[in-house]
Amino acid sequence: MIRKAGGKGDGPARKQASGIHCVDCGELPSPITKAKASRRPPSEARHSPSMQFTIMPTIEIAKNSGFCFGVRRAIDVAKDVASKNPGTTYVYGQLVHNERVIEDLERQGIVFAEDINNIPEGATTVLRAHGEPGTTYRAMKEKGITSSTSLKDATCPLVTLVHNVAIKLKNAGYDVAIFGKHDHPESIGTSYHIKGKDTYIIEKPDMDHARAFVEYLKGNNIKKAALVSQTTMSVYGYKKLIDNLNQLTNGTFRNIPLSLTDVSADYGYVDTICNPTKQRQSGTEELARKVDVMVVIGGVHSSNSKELAQKARELGVETHYIQSAAQVEKGWFAGKERIGVSAGASTPDVLIEEVVGKIKEVVL
Ligand code: SF4
Repeated sequence: MIRKAGGKGDGPARKQASGIHCVDCGELPSPITKAKASRRPPSEARHSPSMQFTIMPTIEIAKNSGFCFGVRRAIDVAKDVASKNPGTTYVYGQLVHNERVIEDLERQGIVFAEDINNIPEGATTVLRAHGEPGTTYRAMKEKGITSSTSLKDATCPLVTLVHNVAIKLKNAGYDVAIFGKHDHPESIGTSYHIKGKDTYIIEKPDMDHARAFVEYLKGNNIKKAALVSQTTMSVYGYKKLIDNLNQLTNGTFRNIPLSLTDVSADYGYVDTICNPTKQRQSGTEELARKVDVMVVIGGVHSSNSKELAQKARELGVETHYIQSAAQVEKGWFAGKERIGVSAGASTPDVLIEEVVGKIKEVVL
């Protein structure tokens, strides 16, 4: 049985969390619909043909599941631009990392181009939420696509904030490295605000990766270095990386405030994981600790969604990462009393509802 419960969503509570929030609006996605399951009371228990009682499993959705304000904003930008543009509207790259969102926008006539060469001269073009390197803006300009003509930038303000932090750290004399994914557009975009392809990117927090970074610093005689993180990385992973770096360097990696009011540390790190990511990770962790099985919904390329599934698995709970309700399998819930559902920041509410509906269908 499922009942709706009001959640804190991305509201005021998020402002008190550490990490970054929107510089434009102070953060603030609209409240995300959450469902909280209640254990069906005995009087509602179903009778099997043999008149034995069957306890129905509960289904609960993790707090803050679904769209963050940055994703919602990017979609609104694309829809708004398309509605006002009499011609074809292009989006460079995946606007957000969710196939369902992309399909819905394609149905509205928006064309997604992975290659700039496939965007016609002067075409109305939207840049994705993950942020772009300067090379993209220059390539667009060569096609006559600029912000004063036909370019709309849907980069999330919190990604722009990371770019600005990285640039300021660089200007303060730091060799800036990124904790992120090599092939993720956000890390690629941020790297071009530092040293381009030469920017050091640390993919994993384990000791081997930490050691390789320390060797890079020593090998290049780098006396001042700072880390920023891709906004969607694991909070726990970033902490583990810093712990490992400090273990290898006798505690030299110090926290540098996001405000950059103190850049005196020779080696440091800035917490640039965004608050919506943190809230989704903590919501998933809280739920995973009390259920028997987790279903996490997210796009194939969604970094933040995959981190949620990873977190649940690390807590030892059986976890299934899916993109649609059609992938739900009845066998996952056999003998399970508590089912948890979580979704990343780029997963639409309708998809969450469909998955919950499918789970109800197979367990009832
Ligand atoms: S996950 Fe964070 S950085 Fe990414 S779009 Fe959402 S709010 Fe912005």
